[in-house]
Amino acid sequence: MTVLEVIQRSTEFLAQKGVESPRRNIEEMLAQVLKLPRLQLYLNFERALTDAELETLRGMVRRRAQREPLQHILGTACFCGLEIAVNRSALVPRPETELLAERTGRWLSTLDSRPSTVLDFGAGTGCLGIVIAVKTPFATVHAVEVSPEAVALAKENSARHNVSDRVCLYCGDGFAALPPGLQFDLLVSNPPYIPSAEIATLQPEVRDFDPRLALDGGADGLDFYRRLAGEAAPWLKADGRMMLEFGDGQADMLRGILCEQKWVVEAVDEDYTRRPRILVARRA
Ligand code: GLN
Repeated sequence: MTVLEVIQRSTEFLAQKGVESPRRNIEEMLAQVLKLPRLQLYLNFERALTDAELETLRGMVRRRAQREPLQHILGTACFCGLEIAVNRSALVPRPETELLAERTGRWLSTLDSRPSTVLDFGAGTGCLGIVIAVKTPFATVHAVEVSPEAVALAKENSARHNVSDRVCLYCGDGFAALPPGLQFDLLVSNPPYIPSAEIATLQPEVRDFDPRLALDGGADGLDFYRRLAGEAAPWLKADGRMMLEFGDGQADMLRGILCEQKWVVEAVDEDYTRRPRILVARRA
């Protein structure tokens, strides 16, 4: 079978299985099997696949047909241009979260290269803290994560991007896991924010493969924001900022939770689909 035939047949098969963007999916898997950049496939349409290549690809397509995320099958996700290793122990990095990373980068750059300390609250794969460390060389990142498996993955990712010396990972539940005495210029978090009852309604890639711990924000999805609103202030420097991602329709509730605990909401940014998605707050 040729490259073009494989692409055509698998696109149809994956589409039947309800996979979004089936052609892009098969192309990315095939590119990995053939060790080619994806666009090079277009110059190799007539190339015949070997039996071994076909066998490997079939295994990947089978997994994708069962709605395993493409990133789990490839082993990596792209986040702000960095290749981040992913697996079932942590949330697959999302495009929306890239906006949060960019927002933090813009604010840190206003600090005029002053050495700054950042807390990544709920690190998952480590993507946020790692991008901050890579793009902001004068920043030191502390990252806390409750799942030991995710911490191992985040360590692997920070080594992969050569920032292990500036990304300190702590395994534990929230602020209790941090050494006392630290104070941060910036707290960044993309906490679990899906209301518990809505998890069953999510697409299979998310519902069945992202860890529940990384999704479940309690009955109304806002448990982690309540915790941050109540506990984060003493960990921030006086002119520090807290930057948070949140879910659809949560902006007003989140504002309310923060204002009640004497935070000043400085900005709410929209995502690519014009939904409010990122909130910036400072201590009163
Ligand atoms: N901080 C990680 C991310 O943004 C993990 C987030 C989470 O598990 N809720 O991808």
